[in-house]
Amino acid sequence: MFEKILIANRGEIACRIIKTARKLGVKTVAVYSEADSKALHVLMADEAYCIGPAPAKESYLLMDNIIDAAKRSGAQAIHPGYGFLSENDVFATRCLDAGIVFIGPSAEAIRLMGSKSQAKSLMQKAGVSLTPGYHGIDQSAALLAKEAEQIGFPVLIKASAGGGGKGIRRVDRAEDFESALMSCQREATNAFANAQVLVEKYITEPRHIEVQVFGDKFGNFVYLFERDCSVQRRHQKVLEEAPAPGLDQQTRESLGRSAIAAAKSVNYLGAGTVEFIVAQSGEFYFMEMNTRLQVEHPVTEMITGLDLVEWQLKIAFGEALPLEQKSLLIHGHAIEARIYAEDPTSGFLPSTGPLLQMRTPQESIHVRVDTGVSQGDVVTPYYDPMIAKLIVWDKDRGRAIAQMQQALSQFHVLGVSNNIHFLGNIIKSKSFTNAQISTNLIEYEQANLFEQVTDTPEEVLVLAAVFEWSLLPNSPRFSKFQKGWRLNSSPQISFTLKGKEWLKTVRLTLSDDGLPKYFEVVGGGGAGRWISQINPDAQVLSVELDGVWIRAHALSHKNIRYLSTDQGRWTYGLVTLSEQLELKESHSGELRAPMPGKVIVVNVTQGQHVKKGEVLLVMEAMKMEHAIAAPRDGVIKSCFCKVGDQIPESTDLIAFE
Ligand code: ADP
Ligand code: ADP
Ligand code: MG
Repeated sequence: MFEKILIANRGEIACRIIKTARKLGVKTVAVYSEADSKALHVLMADEAYCIGPAPAKESYLLMDNIIDAAKRSGAQAIHPGYGFLSENDVFATRCLDAGIVFIGPSAEAIRLMGSKSQAKSLMQKAGVSLTPGYHGIDQSAALLAKEAEQIGFPVLIKASAGGGGKGIRRVDRAEDFESALMSCQREATNAFANAQVLVEKYITEPRHIEVQVFGDKFGNFVYLFERDCSVQRRHQKVLEEAPAPGLDQQTRESLGRSAIAAAKSVNYLGAGTVEFIVAQSGEFYFMEMNTRLQVEHPVTEMITGLDLVEWQLKIAFGEALPLEQKSLLIHGHAIEARIYAEDPTSGFLPSTGPLLQMRTPQESIHVRVDTGVSQGDVVTPYYDPMIAKLIVWDKDRGRAIAQMQQALSQFHVLGVSNNIHFLGNIIKSKSFTNAQISTNLIEYEQANLFEQVTDTPEEVLVLAAVFEWSLLPNSPRFSKFQKGWRLNSSPQISFTLKGKEWLKTVRLTLSDDGLPKYFEVVGGGGAGRWISQINPDAQVLSVELDGVWIRAHALSHKNIRYLSTDQGRWTYGLVTLSEQLELKESHSGELRAPMPGKVIVVNVTQGQHVKKGEVLLVMEAMKMEHAIAAPRDGVIKSCFCKVGDQIPESTDLIAFE
């Protein structure tokens, strides 16, 4: 086995490869950009070399710097992971020339499969069935339009060099073909520096089923069964599972044979994936071959009990395939969910920023979490916004779905928008649970996936109030708050919370021992709720209301709060007193009454100098006292009220400068 390998990648895949290398006693070398100097993969590796500034073009894609790091470290082989240089035949050649093993297929195989058009020609010869279409060299617009007409609409125009769902256009009508073609060619030129396209019959409601293959240098091939990756957004995978639901053994074997035929035709070495599009009729067609480890390889590992990276290393070192086809078996069912820093409700826009808090489910034989980040790391705009892959396994699909639901409910991120709740909605959707799967699933289920809870349920506000209480220093004693907050001899405390589209003040009345007893929404008009018990556990906050326990996973960072309950996930802010005043403060520097009430204390007179935070007056409103403090240092210009005045909301109380 190799003594030392370099991993030319970052994030979860770099960490994942390091784990296997370590298991095999292989030393690891990480490379990193300046933005990643403290990244997990750098911390995990035995050695690490900086290869340039943050943009991938100046670091992770710089072959010279990577090969230089390999030479300096004495690494014998380079694992490219996925993305970046993994499907770059020039890089594979450069490694070979430098006397370093490229952990992957030959440069020739990468090149042949790198062009979807060329790969289709090759597959035609190998007898693998193709999606009907045109994949020729002639790229004149007139010819392509004629071909599209012949294929029959709808068609797909695809960038021949494309990947990651980019450069794909669906065209439904002949009159739209030309503009779609131009836009596809533009995108292909920008993203892949290659304008070549192919045209394919658009298969309606298809499934994406891919086959994991392996080849060794002795000419042996096996397939490690299939993965169903139909649940996609923008032609990109979101959920993957193995085995493909409802696939009969005959079709499975036939897919496997086709995949091996594809791999054989290019003398494939190592791990590769042959992607098929499967029509509702059950007919399948070759789409492309990805000549690398796939993001979703863990589902295959979970159902076969094998370590695919271990296989990659062994084969690259020159060993034979560890197992023959007949020894390979499917055991149970696995599902992977890709957890992205993105906002599903705004078109899956990537979200950047610090991962202020991250809580992941406990790993077990049922649950695996592959991640390359930890709490405190920043999701930058430079790289893929994937936070983690959550993989679950169980005896059958139904149980795997239940495992996934549970694991997702234990995955919490505060700091960046993420798709965890959305993934949970897919998992519990009818189409998914009934295995009515196609690449249109998200579109068909959208009414149930993107639904947003508009109003914050009262239970959530109760949990929010108790959470604030639990965060106070000295809870549950609160000596500090009892003075001045007393009303009818029971201490009360209120918090103002600000969500995306709501602002609410909630109030807790505390028992003599300082525990929350009664909850109200200030100005909410409704009756309050009696709280019988609470359990402010570090992980799960629980409150008993009318004989029912309600629970939330709760996270906080400074004034940012996050609650996750059965009903959804809420991120909101705690509005501090001075922020409340700023919200209410008029432009002229006047402090206004935050709500209608009675003035009960006036601490200041005209001309008085006050410090930021100093209490200027106290109002009693809705059975609660509100201290109004100076938003900053200043002088009292005038005071418009006196003790005992009944004040309507937004009345000027004090002019302040
Ligand atoms: P495909 O969609 O072609 O079948 P995958 O779903 O396996 O491929 O996704 C692989 C692609 O995802 C890569 O080609 C790359 O562009 C992107 N990608 C995702 N995560 C990362 C990452 N951590 N580093 C680099 N590339 C990534
Ligand atoms: P990429 O290299 O970006 O992964 P693919 O050719 O693998 O491109 O296609 C990406 C996705 O687009 C597929 O997973 C599938 O959902 C959809 N797709 C591709 N070809 C077809 C087709 N002929 N008909 C319907 N959908 C297709
Ligand atoms: Mg693909």
